[in-house]
Amino acid sequence: MFVGHFALGFAAKRAAPKLSLALLFAACQLADILWPAFVAAGLESVQIRPGITAFTPLDFVSYPYSHSLVALSLWGIVLGSACWLLGAGGRASSLIAVLVLSHWILDFVSHRPDMPIYPGGALWGLGLWNSVPATLFVELLLFGAGVWLYSRATRATDAVGRWSFVALTLFLLIVYVASFAGGPPPSVTAIYWAGLVGGVVIVAWSWWTDRHRQAV
Ligand SMILES: [Zn+2]
Repeated sequence: MFVGHFALGFAAKRAAPKLSLALLFAACQLADILWPAFVAAGLESVQIRPGITAFTPLDFVSYPYSHSLVALSLWGIVLGSACWLLGAGGRASSLIAVLVLSHWILDFVSHRPDMPIYPGGALWGLGLWNSVPATLFVELLLFGAGVWLYSRATRATDAVGRWSFVALTLFLLIVYVASFAGGPPPSVTAIYWAGLVGGVVIVAWSWWTDRHRQAV
């Protein structure tokens, strides 16, 4: 799942208006921010196998530290505690922890049974990715709802806040469409570089956008 994760980040702004969209995105996507770094470091592995699911050619061979239920629960506690120590408050910090964990639930719905419960444990997955139309339906519906909620929970304070939000939304959609319509990636190295650079760009861009909007 890709834009579905960002949908939750957008939607969470209403519940935690003081938190930057960048932090909400980083929480929802923490698994996919850690994953390319762990693949690059050789701790986790992925292979390109066109046809393994209808939607993605990626075979997630092993990703226990970024994508197991237990690891994501711990990462959620780590990031939530960090927010709490930095003064985000109990409610907002708990929300951050839940958002980190939400990544597992959404990926569990989309992936084939390759999502570990704990490192070395059973692999789960409902396989939404076996159908392109069903994947697009579910993810775009979630994304549309998330974008709508964020647009209602915040108001642009200037032109940057208005157009950067539109451009960020379009950018996420274009990356999403390109990820399945553009054919398999050329190499595992290309996958993790795209993941690392993409993660930094999206978090920085959402921080900048959110600074030019205010909660209503
Ligand atoms: Zn993921």
